Amino acid sequence: MGKSSKDKRDVYYRLAKEQGWRARSAFKLLQLDEDFNLFEGVHRAVDLCAAPGSWSQVLTKKLSENHAKNPQEEPPKIVAVDLQAMAPLDGVVQLQGDITKKSTADQIISYFEGQLSDIVICDGAPDVTGLHDMDEYIQAQLLLAALNITTHVLRPGGTFVAKIFRGKDITLLYSQLKIFFPTVTCSKPRSSRNSSIEAFIVCQDYQPPEGYVPNMANPLLDMQYGNMNELVGSNRVIVPFTACGDLNGYDADRTYPLDETHKSRDPLQPPITAPYKTAMGLKRSNFYNKVAK
Ligand code: SAM
Repeated sequence: MGKSSKDKRDVYYRLAKEQGWRARSAFKLLQLDEDFNLFEGVHRAVDLCAAPGSWSQVLTKKLSENHAKNPQEEPPKIVAVDLQAMAPLDGVVQLQGDITKKSTADQIISYFEGQLSDIVICDGAPDVTGLHDMDEYIQAQLLLAALNITTHVLRPGGTFVAKIFRGKDITLLYSQLKIFFPTVTCSKPRSSRNSSIEAFIVCQDYQPPEGYVPNMANPLLDMQYGNMNELVGSNRVIVPFTACGDLNGYDADRTYPLDETHKSRDPLQPPITAPYKTAMGLKRSNFYNKVAK
């Protein structure tokens, strides 16, 4: 397929080049802004998963327009983070780093000199495998990592915008977001293809739960399940753990000898097609011993 064919097929791809945006994604953020007025009063912004940088370009434009209207207010500060290197952009500080790491959150905070951001946006996407369940799962983990880092760097009342895949577990993600934001909306910009399950959540008025201490515990990504026990206050979720059944009855971990009343019997209903049937047949025909020799 030639380049001009993509220009014909994808109007936003063509328009992005005509208007000087680094990627067609710029239109998604611009269209979200048309509905949600995302940048009113915004001075500090964080762009997570920013490369090649079209969302950062939108931030630069919008925040400098704000400053031009109110020059007495603080000048814009924009931080862009991505695993990949990004060509420089005027007015944007770039961090090449991983949004799942606490060190990245620390670097952002240090750039803001202890102040928090008014908005965090995240267009993060993992490399798509084509296996839908897997892609949805990884995207959800990236979104949760973005939410984690956001709780370190966003001011109360601030806004979080992120890409989401509308998969079957989306309700679970919504309920996690609603813990931190009273208003959560899922929006599909016109420039996002209908054939894609991509949409964007716009989470407004950041209100962390009372006593919440930001942390980067992400057991699914770090494989460090032990850390969850170190969480305290409202960060720690405890569900009741109960024992049930007659506690004086048989102990599942003990060995009980067979006797006159307790004999070995065949199973009441053997499996119709046991998963181990082929292996049993091979064992009976001495297959494994022959292979081992
Ligand atoms: N919003 C960007 C723009 O407008 O130019 C496009 C973002 S692109 C769709 C997704 C980006 O997510 C990729 O550049 C990728 O490197 C980044 N990414 C994926 N996982 C990441 C992670 N753990 N930390 C930082 N960046 C990540």
